[in-house]
Amino acid sequence: MEETIFDKIIAGQLPSDKVYEDENVLAFRDINPQAPVHVLVVPKKKVKDFIEIQHNDVTQTGIFFNTVSKVASLLGLEKGGYRIVLNCGEDGQQTVEYLHAHILGDRKMNWPPG
Ligand code: C5P
Repeated sequence: MEETIFDKIIAGQLPSDKVYEDENVLAFRDINPQAPVHVLVVPKKKVKDFIEIQHNDVTQTGIFFNTVSKVASLLGLEKGGYRIVLNCGEDGQQTVEYLHAHILGDRKMNWPPG
C-alpha cells in the first residue's frame, strides 16, 4: 500500500493537532475543518478504506468504532449530537487512502448530505 499523509502523521514524521491517542488509534483535528469541531480518527494498524473492513479482524474494527464514539464524547459532543462520516472510494470523495472517520460537530447538520 502506498504511504499516505496519515502514515506520516502516525509515525510522527508530520505534526498534527492531536486530541486523543492510545495504542490502537490516533485522533487529530482536520486541517480544513467543515464544522466548528472536525476531528479525524485513524487506526494505527493500517486499513485502506471502509471496503477493507469486511476482511479485517472484528476486534480491531470494534476497537476503532468504540474509540470514535469515545472521542466524540471527550470532545463534548454528546449533548447536541454530531455526525460521523466515512468517505469511501472516488465517488465517496475519499482523498486519503487510509481509513479515517470524520467527527463533525458543534453545528446543525444538513440532510441529505451533498
Ligand atoms: O474523507 P477524505 O479522504 O476526503 O478526508 C481527508 C481529510 O484529511 C480532509 O478533510 C483533509 O482536510 C484532511 N487532512 C488533514 N491533514 C492533512 C491532510 C488532509 O487533516 N495533512
